[in-house]
Amino acid sequence: MSTNVRVPDIYGCRVFSDEVMRERLPKDVYRSLTRTIATGGEIDASIAGTVANAMKDWAIENGATHFTHWFQPLTGVTAEKHESFLSPVGGGKVIMEFSGKELIKGESDASSFPSGGLRATFEARGYTAWDPASYAFVKDGSLFIPTAFCSYSGEALDAKTPLLRSLDALSAQAVRILRLFGDNETERVSVTVGAEQEYFLVDRADYLRRPDLRYTGRTLFGAPAPKGQELEDHYFGALKPRVSSFMADLDRELWSLGVDAKTKHNEAAPAQHELAPIFGTANMAIDQNLLIMEYMRRTAEKHGMACLLHEKPFAGVNGSGKHDNWALATDGGKNLLKAGRTPAENRQFLLFLAAVVKAVDEYQDLLRLSVASAANDHRLGGNEAPPAIVSMFIGDELEAVVESIVSGHAYNGAGRETMNLGVPSVPTFTRDATDRNRTSPFAFTGNKFEFRMPGASQNVAMPNIVLNTAVAEELRLFADELEGAKDFDEALRTLIRRELTAHRRIIFNGNGYSEEWREEAKKRGLLELKKAVDAFPYLTEEKNVTLFTRHGVMNRNELFSRKEILLENYAKVVNIEALTMINMVRRDYLPAVEKYMRDLAATASKKRALLDNIGVRVETDLIRRLTAFAEEAYRLVDKLEEEEEVAAKISDGYDKAREYADKILPLMDELRAAVDGMEPLTAAEYWPVATYGDLMFGV
Ligand code: ADP
Ligand code: MG
Repeated sequence: MSTNVRVPDIYGCRVFSDEVMRERLPKDVYRSLTRTIATGGEIDASIAGTVANAMKDWAIENGATHFTHWFQPLTGVTAEKHESFLSPVGGGKVIMEFSGKELIKGESDASSFPSGGLRATFEARGYTAWDPASYAFVKDGSLFIPTAFCSYSGEALDAKTPLLRSLDALSAQAVRILRLFGDNETERVSVTVGAEQEYFLVDRADYLRRPDLRYTGRTLFGAPAPKGQELEDHYFGALKPRVSSFMADLDRELWSLGVDAKTKHNEAAPAQHELAPIFGTANMAIDQNLLIMEYMRRTAEKHGMACLLHEKPFAGVNGSGKHDNWALATDGGKNLLKAGRTPAENRQFLLFLAAVVKAVDEYQDLLRLSVASAANDHRLGGNEAPPAIVSMFIGDELEAVVESIVSGHAYNGAGRETMNLGVPSVPTFTRDATDRNRTSPFAFTGNKFEFRMPGASQNVAMPNIVLNTAVAEELRLFADELEGAKDFDEALRTLIRRELTAHRRIIFNGNGYSEEWREEAKKRGLLELKKAVDAFPYLTEEKNVTLFTRHGVMNRNELFSRKEILLENYAKVVNIEALTMINMVRRDYLPAVEKYMRDLAATASKKRALLDNIGVRVETDLIRRLTAFAEEAYRLVDKLEEEEEVAAKISDGYDKAREYADKILPLMDELRAAVDGMEPLTAAEYWPVATYGDLMFGV
């Protein structure tokens, strides 16, 4: 893409956006469609044909010949299957056609997507259903239509369906609360999401020479380079020209797709970067994050680099997360997590705050689970990322407010007076007042919450599903209680105080990385689910099944199948890593080191032939030390292979994942140590793969 392009000219030029719809659709159709989008209701089937036709004409003008339903099966990546608009009309002629039926519903063979046993083998059909709330767009000659994906019997097989359901659930309960405060206008409360995306860039040639990066996305071996991130000279440092031109190209691609890429900078680790978009409604923001990840990968390739989105591509330096910024907005554009200026707004804010505090405390298991994966296990609790314990940071000022509510003492922080309603005046927070703590998994940052546990590569639908549903549940309970109250003010005061007192344990403003916090958290009865495998079973705990089914977000079958998929996926990921290690040790590392030792031995004997008592300490010593590591590596590869056979035979999903977590991964660590021990002893020209230094400082 040319660099001399005016942003407003390209912005959204590949999107069937609201503006395009207004221009191209008959007024009544446009109105009906935007109403569906705003309220999350059912699409009126009678308008589908008109919309489809307008979409097709627009797409063809923008170079499309095909359309595809674009969906999010539980593989973690998006899926697409392209159909051309071509329709023969006889006489060797064709016309370009796209019907309302094709827009609304697609039928696809679901049998090769993960279903966790939901879809019996005799019923392989799956359906994709148009999601009008996320804009269609043109990419690579196809019209992409965002869709939900479900089984023949209507069970969700994707990330989007439960997300949409959770957004409806949350809106319904939030509107009930707003009514109690005299708001009779708001019809819909939506969730706003801004997902900050971290990533690494490495040189493509180096990447291609690392089977571990290619197959698993992370380095399974690699001795530390002499330099890591200790000088703190990369964070916000000047962009290298190659990185800068990648970022410029990426921005333009994303802008043309209507993605509001806003902030870009270098991150803490060498070769690590971040992109933050301007927040949007949850559904679209998540779809756009999937596009961001895809365009990061392909733009990197175009620039001779590879983009690593893995949670922990390198040991010893920071991994990559995806901070999920989350807030609630009314259809009138009001942020419900912004402290108000009037006493009534204040109390409403405190009620929503109490709901989030309660939700995070009661469903800490689900929040932990929503970010659990084999990859994120290497990051969480790693002294750079949030610990595996869920807690909340609300900042000193808000903490003082909570303290005064709980203790009943007047709040007099920062010279602010107490409103004469038994509810303290809530300061309107500045970023500085709230954003100091970077170690908290879940932080209030002025007018939104920032959930920092999600991993860089994950679809953040699940964390949002959990958060939306848990908050919906607390709001439901609050609304039930307050709707029946004789004295609303009194009931509200009692409720806020009671809930903040009961759930205060989840609030922690100190250093989340410290050992003391783990001790303290244990005393408070907070869960520390260290490994993903420890977290997965919580998905089907009775209290959680009740939560999801009550709000119609996921039924029992869907939850059990999702748990199976998580367990299966975990085992598969670690299995691929183990097989890659076995391969690399046998085929790359051992032959390279053997060759080096052969040359050392030859040198030693040649030297001796030349001079009787010449020293050959260098050669013999290196051979001795390398042999010790090589024998250890050889032994461990055999052992790993044996353990792999044991694990492969286990049929129960949980037991199998457990075996990979507790037996295979520790063996992999041992094997890595043996190979990493050989690396600094081996002459550079013999080493078969790019080193940490090459990868992190090679661009
Ligand atoms: P950080 O210090 O974490 O990088 P930023 O100010 O850059 O913080 O914001 C991080 C993200 O939060 C951005 O993507 C921004 O759009 C998003 N954000 C801001 N306000 C909201 C909101 N009300 N709802 C959701 N996301 C928001
Ligand atoms: Mg952030």
